[in-house]
Amino acid sequence: MNESGRVIYLDNNATTRVAPEVFDEMKPYFCDLYGNPSSMHSFGGQVSEKVKEARAKVAAILNCYPVEIVYTSCGTESDNFAVKGAFEAYPDKKHFVTTRVEHPAVFNLGKWLENRGYDVTFLSVNKYGMLDIDELRASIRSDTGLVSIMWANNETGTIFPIERIARIVKGAGCLLHVDAVQAVGKIPIDLKKIPIDLLALSGHKVHAPKGIGVLFVRKGTKIRPQMIGGHQERGRRGGTENTPSIIGLGKACELAMANMHEEITRVKTLRDKLEHFILTSIPMSHLNGHPTERLPNTTSISFEYIEGEAILLDLDRLGICASSGSACTSGSLEPSHVLRAMGVPFTCAHGSVRFSLSRYTTEEEIDYVIEKLPGVINRLRELSPFTPKVT
Ligand code: PLP
Repeated sequence: MNESGRVIYLDNNATTRVAPEVFDEMKPYFCDLYGNPSSMHSFGGQVSEKVKEARAKVAAILNCYPVEIVYTSCGTESDNFAVKGAFEAYPDKKHFVTTRVEHPAVFNLGKWLENRGYDVTFLSVNKYGMLDIDELRASIRSDTGLVSIMWANNETGTIFPIERIARIVKGAGCLLHVDAVQAVGKIPIDLKKIPIDLLALSGHKVHAPKGIGVLFVRKGTKIRPQMIGGHQERGRRGGTENTPSIIGLGKACELAMANMHEEITRVKTLRDKLEHFILTSIPMSHLNGHPTERLPNTTSISFEYIEGEAILLDLDRLGICASSGSACTSGSLEPSHVLRAMGVPFTCAHGSVRFSLSRYTTEEEIDYVIEKLPGVINRLRELSPFTPKVT
């Protein structure tokens, strides 16, 4: 919290606040309308109707059919379902293509497959975090079982040209999974237009609660269930439905569609204000990610010669929540695999901070960060033994 007891939350790529409208929509389904949607009685039946309604709302934001929506528990489960389910459905296929900048939910699945004898291609990116389309085209082979490429990067916000990628992958006769966890609600998605087979999203990134996710499975796509159990989700994912969260996700998708224009205009204007201020007023600060092909809410900035974690701690004392591109691994501070893949120099990769905004971010909050951040950076630079001395 800051001096006035407020939290300035600029970490919306990590998780988002549940929208009050979403919470209101969910409330009756805990203590009053708690029936099981699979039950024969009308008490469960009314919940089943509401789940059906929610499915249609989730399908609407993706422009797909409601039967193509499979509920899961989170984005990670959706990614696991897509990758493991596709390889189990096609046991002769032994090659997986993904990128070096995926979220661990896919990146580590690549490593997992490698440990099981699969051949995995991790596609490289350039300094903006952008893929080389020719490298992708050349990577696809006759034994490629699946290509899995994220729509937008969680750390830098860089957006991949998914429509082009889909045409190449489908043109080569291969299955395509897209991790769209960071893209949904921030940029338009049209699955009637783009031939993606499988697509993951996560409720807690779109102002729905934690614990609910979706895997879109295009009609006719062969995939093996990973959660074996009852007949729920048309036999594709067993387990009694998380009805309050499903209903909440439906409402969240409806709100996200209504707010999409705002995300792309007002939120982007605030993000640009913050980013422009930092890059022009704080020396030795650099943008990580693509200058234009980027999520409207995300900016990742490296401050040379200081640690991202130190910046975050100082910001935290001021009530500002952001996140860093480093991960503390086994006692040593390793820069993120995303920044390393982009070739961000060592002196920058350690000092990276990601600010991610949402529809709840106000201009006053951005102005507060603009007022406080230079002092934080100056203080840490003065303390840092690595800062070059100006003589
Ligand atoms: N994929 C991306 C791009 C993400 O950013 C995240 C979460 O940060 C995930 C997958 C995992 O989603 P969840 O937290 O719902 O498991």
